[in-house]
Amino acid sequence: MMKIKRVIYNNKLFTVVLLTYIVLTALIPGKAVQAFQNSLYYVKEMLMIMPVILLLTSLITAWVPRKAIEDNFGKGSGIKGSILSFLLGSFSAGPIYAAFPVCKALLAKGASISNIVVILSTWAVIKVPMLVNEAKFLSPKFMIIRWILTTISIFLLGFIMSKMIKKEDLPQEKSNDHEEKGGIHLSQEYCIGCGLCAKIAPDYFELINKRAIVKNAFIKDGEEIIVRDVIGKCPAKVISTT
Ligand code: SF4
Repeated sequence: MMKIKRVIYNNKLFTVVLLTYIVLTALIPGKAVQAFQNSLYYVKEMLMIMPVILLLTSLITAWVPRKAIEDNFGKGSGIKGSILSFLLGSFSAGPIYAAFPVCKALLAKGASISNIVVILSTWAVIKVPMLVNEAKFLSPKFMIIRWILTTISIFLLGFIMSKMIKKEDLPQEKSNDHEEKGGIHLSQEYCIGCGLCAKIAPDYFELINKRAIVKNAFIKDGEEIIVRDVIGKCPAKVISTT
């Protein structure tokens, strides 16, 4: 019974959706079929897009040095950071939900709130493929004026958001999704819970609720090779060291 309760608790959103479907099927079966078909369409779309996005976020997490992200997208990156964020969002492809894991990985590596707002906003409303279609259907003049006004608004929004929201306010920091203590870093949200790290290096990693955590981040002399072995073998590539 406890196990079922825990499964439900850990999958609250899925449970609510499932219950909604059950109620809908009982009350309005026609709408339930329609809703199911719509959901299926989006699930298929996500299955095509998300593997690429998760690969990209794993690469950012595992291979891009924190300093590179801090220099180019961090608080001190200034106008360069704003422009790079704008370009990243503008030349992206895919729906907006694909931007969230990428932004989360960038945030965890030191990107600033204002630059994350710029990436998300440009990705959502002025990415290049969208502008091309907009010019085709609503005229180039419409597209250019909207682009200028939206761009100004995006930078303003980034500035205002950075004053209102601090990194400490974000849930992943509070929930310790990103395990980062001293020398070993572990992006817990992308861990697939295979348990390999805890098996190879039980002094450094532990599996709790099917997610690895860093038990001890400070690598003892002579044990670097064990940690390097874990980094190389982690299938999700979510572990790194500084
Ligand atoms: S080896 Fe990687 S994916 Fe597997 S449990 Fe450890 S951190 Fe998670």
